[in-house]
Amino acid sequence: MFPAGQSRIRDADLHRLTERRTAFCMNPDVLIVGGGIGGTMLAALLSRGGKRVLIIERAKGPPAFLRPEILWPRAVDTLFSLESREFWERECVRAAGGIVLDNSGKLTPVVTPELFGRAGVLPFFENPNATRETLLGICGAEVRRGIEVLAVRARDLAAGTEMEIEAAITIGDDGAESRVRAGCGIAMELRAFPMEFITRGVSWPSAWPVDVVRIFLPRRRLSGGLLALAMFPLRGGKAACLAPVVTGSVDEALAADFAELLAGAAEVPEELRAVDFPQSFTRIGRKWGHAPRYGCDGAVLLGDAIHPVSPAGGQGANMAIADAVALARILLAGAPDPAAALERERRAANERGVQPTRLTSRFFRLSRIPLLGSLPGLLIPLVLRSDAMRIRALRRLAGWQESAAWCLPRLTV
Ligand SMILES: Cc1cc2nc3c(=O)[nH]c(=O)nc-3n(C[C@H](O)[C@H](O)[C@H](O)COP(=O)(O)OP(=O)(O)OC[C@H]3O[C@@H](n4cnc5c(N)ncnc54)[C@H](O)[C@@H]3O)c2cc1C
Repeated sequence: MFPAGQSRIRDADLHRLTERRTAFCMNPDVLIVGGGIGGTMLAALLSRGGKRVLIIERAKGPPAFLRPEILWPRAVDTLFSLESREFWERECVRAAGGIVLDNSGKLTPVVTPELFGRAGVLPFFENPNATRETLLGICGAEVRRGIEVLAVRARDLAAGTEMEIEAAITIGDDGAESRVRAGCGIAMELRAFPMEFITRGVSWPSAWPVDVVRIFLPRRRLSGGLLALAMFPLRGGKAACLAPVVTGSVDEALAADFAELLAGAAEVPEELRAVDFPQSFTRIGRKWGHAPRYGCDGAVLLGDAIHPVSPAGGQGANMAIADAVALARILLAGAPDPAAALERERRAANERGVQPTRLTSRFFRLSRIPLLGSLPGLLIPLVLRSDAMRIRALRRLAGWQESAAWCLPRLTV
């Protein structure tokens, strides 16, 4: 699909490829494999810059489960550069109003609007399914769904037929197990994050503030592997629950932990009390790493395809958007080696974005050593108690994935 050196194809070949592309769809300038937040953002910026873009996405629709996502201000500004704030707020995003801890029955506001103000950082909560669907709808690219890229070929999942699609440049936004990355011959060490994430949607309790996250913490370490449970308010009266658990924890033990956690909580919504945990939730494992190269001749990678991370610190989607902004600028400027240019601009910032995952992974492993098991219980309250520490943490998380050169490309429309 992205024969290295596509740009070196002879004229006669180019003519043949052009005909084949027209037969498939529309003779794209840029082919994007994967319609995640990075690929769709890139498509939107390139389309507005006058490029014809084709997105090939394996999934026929959004995932059936709901999970939360935090976007930091630069990423949110980028969304708002495509459509108005009101547009995005209608369905997908909501400005964060704070975080309240329910620490075994004691309610403590740990982040407040005043703290966001002092930090100069206003994050947004979003429904990632709605944001990606909206981006797919407005990006201006031709979108083909239900087609899986195999290696140098693609397969229509409905018809079972295989096809070849070719473009001058192929972009891999196809996640941690990227086929495009494999096609570039880039070997990458993927490490398993030691926690899994159990997630589902419920209704947001009408009596609770509509923009404040609620985190339930247990009094003592729970024996079955449940570490905490967070409820994020989303648009449309919904909430996304997210529970980090020790990888490999068994369902029965988690169910017992869940009952114990809720029994000690100050306020538990009825719906949450009634859910079947963890059976009615979706369990997600994450792998992480940072690719040694960002592409090859004819192909460039972005987002999770080059730096998959855990949800720690809320970095992955923000990094994917930052990559898209940089890559759009590079492609619109016609840079001769876009993969190298993207790597020059983004590697250091992406390395900072991977850092929370690396640190959490190490810290977690340390905390499982019997004598060091009380570390999280000692350190987390220390960090949360100090205003200065919380402000510093917010600023670092908001700025970690940013590169100095983050600015939107100049667009023709
Ligand atoms: C529980 C959870 C919570 C998270 N919370 C946050 C958060 O708060 N903040 C944050 O910034 N990040 C968060 N993340 C991480 C974030 O979701 C990812 O880093 C981000 O989605 C990566 O975007 P992407 O565009 O690179 O790729 P992806 O979103 O992984 O998209 C890849 C797309 O490619 C498609 N695809 C894959 N293979 C093929 C193929 N062969 N052919 C065709 N299509 C293919 C897939 O169907 C998918 O749609 C969280 C992740 C999880 C799991």
